[in-house]
Order: sequence, then C-alpha cells, then structure tokens
Amino acid sequence: MTDTLKVTKIAETKINQVDFSNLAFGTVFTDHMFVCEYKNGKWQTPEILPYGPLQMDPSAKVFHYGQAVFEGMKAYKDDNGDIFMFRPEENFNRINKSGERLAMPAFDKEYFFDGLNTLLNLDKDWIKSGEGNSLYIRPFVIATENGVSASPSSEYKFVIICAPAQAYYSGQVKVLFADHYSRSADGGVGYAKAAGNYAAQFYPTELAKEKGYNQVVWTDANTHEYLEEAGTMNVFFRVNDTLITAPTSDRILDGITRKSLIELAKSQGINVEVRPVKVAEIVEAAENGSLKEMFGAGTAAVISPISGFTHKEKAFDLPLVEDAYATKLKKQLTELQANRAEDPFGWRYEVPAIEV
Ligand SMILES: *Cc1c(COP(=O)(O)O)cnc(C)c1O
Repeated sequence: MTDTLKVTKIAETKINQVDFSNLAFGTVFTDHMFVCEYKNGKWQTPEILPYGPLQMDPSAKVFHYGQAVFEGMKAYKDDNGDIFMFRPEENFNRINKSGERLAMPAFDKEYFFDGLNTLLNLDKDWIKSGEGNSLYIRPFVIATENGVSASPSSEYKFVIICAPAQAYYSGQVKVLFADHYSRSADGGVGYAKAAGNYAAQFYPTELAKEKGYNQVVWTDANTHEYLEEAGTMNVFFRVNDTLITAPTSDRILDGITRKSLIELAKSQGINVEVRPVKVAEIVEAAENGSLKEMFGAGTAAVISPISGFTHKEKAFDLPLVEDAYATKLKKQLTELQANRAEDPFGWRYEVPAIEV
C-alpha cells in the first residue's frame, strides 16, 4: 500500500443485514468506497471511506453535460479465501481510453491498484466463494466542477464502489435487431464506456421490451445491415461450427469477455472469424438451420445465450443444441476466473493480502 492512501474505516459493518442468497444485481453495496479527487491539474491523495452519498453542487458539470465514464469488473474468492480478479489492467486501460474521448484526465495506475487492493481486503467478507458468487466492482469518473458552461470540467472524482453478485440467469433471451435507432456512429463514442451511451439506449430498448424482447442488437448506423453489439454485451454467432463476431471499431466496445472468448475458443480448435456480420447472412443461416447459437458476452453475465431474434417483423427461434459453445465456454471462463481451473493465458490477477 502506498502511504498516500488515506483509509477511514466504518464503525460497524452492515454485512449482517444482507441476504446473500437473494441479491438483486447491483443494489446492495459493501461497507467502503474509494474516492480520489482531481483538482489544480492533478489527482489528490486517494481515500477509502465508508460507503455513502457524495456531496456535489447542483451546477456540477456531470449533471448537465454527462461528462462521465465507468467500468465493470469482478472479484472472486476461492476455497482458500484468496481473492482474484480477471485482467484488471484491461479495465484500467479502458477507463482511461474512455476518459480521453470525454476530455477527462487519465487516472494514476498505482492509485488505482492500491485503492482496489485495499478496498477488496477491507471488504473481503463481502466476497463469497463458490460457483456463481462474485463481487461486482464499479469504478467511475464524474465531472465535479461547478458551473454550467459547456466545457470540460477542471475537477473530477474517481470513485470505486462494490456490490456482491450471484450467478445471473437471464432465462430465455429474445432480441430485436435494430433497423431504425442506433447506438453509435463512426467517429462517435461507441467504443467508450461513456454514461450517455447507455441513457441513449434506454428508450429504444423500452420500445423493444414492450414488444416482448429483452434486448436490442444494434446494427451499424449507416445501413443497419451489419450486426454490431447489444446494450452492454458484445455478440457472437455460431454458424455450423464456426464462431463469428464483429471486429471492434470506434462504434463497438472492445469487451474483455469478448477478446478472452475469442482466444479461449481458438485454443480449443474452434474456428473463429472476426469480421463484419451481415444481418442477411444470419437471417439466411436461421432459415437454413445452420445458425446454431447466438450469445452476448460481457462481465456481468459472462455469456448470455439468446434463444431467438426478430428482424423487420420476422421472428426466428434458435434450436436447442447439445454441447452448446455458450455453455462450455462460460463454464471454462468462469472456472478460470474463480481459480478453479488452470490459467494458461495468464489472465488471473491475485489480489495481494494486505493488513488493513
Ligand atoms: C461493458 C460493455 C461490453 C462488455 O465488455 P466486458 O469488458 O466484456 O465487460 C460490451 N459492450 C458494451 C457496449 C459495454 O458497455
């Protein structure tokens, strides 16, 4: 731990009030949070504080211009009580990449890892071992300078909060292929985890939900002919035995689950194609029976199988396949993440035990 991290512990834990067998995703938070302020051109001494409200002026820029970015990551505990994370450096790099697009200052790597390691040690009882259990970690950065002039803030808060999570079963997921609204465009912010990207999806996603779909799979804004990604997940298609996913670009978020699945699948001899995916080819594959699977990939659900899709009023159901790639890859990835399997890729990060 750097001597620059200031820790203020809670007086009494609230963990005993939590029913760990019945957690709604992202609604219960741990005892502590990490906060670091940026002002006078630099990040100030980071702090760990009791979890609680942030005080801000109503004119703070985040409220008016949405200058905000976030990340989503998880920590796992194995049966020995050791804590692991999955490729956290990727999340650190990505929040700075997202921040750069929103004219925000890069965060300090040492502050990030010291803060995270200390926070996880302080709140380690909130991480349960066993299949499906994890701690969802939400780092975010917000513009806190007072004043409503439309220009980048000169002050920010970098915050990390944590929520215990259980395995996420989405049930039957039906999706709608977008043919009117768009999530992102060339030269835009689609590749960034920028808060406003998600707000902008809520309305078209609500319209889709009213029609009975769980999610929208976004298509390219120019032609709506290419499938890109879902709300907070990249999308994979299995045609015969080939796994296909769109290449990342400035419209598509470079998901850590996505790139790990590509490597994991390849390492097992699965044929993987990273190339633009035409709506027409997926419709055709569904019609001729060669479309075996479709699934979303992202940190929260890891892999979320899709059971059917609709494009321009035409609905298709996917067959139930035996030995689904989705089931197999999800199991392999989650076991690796939780230190229940070998890690030939070097993706696992062991959180050092720190006296706190
Ligand atoms: C977070 C996110 C993903 C998934 O990224 P992971 O690193 O795998 O969690 C995919 N698409 C969008 C738009 C996202 O916000």
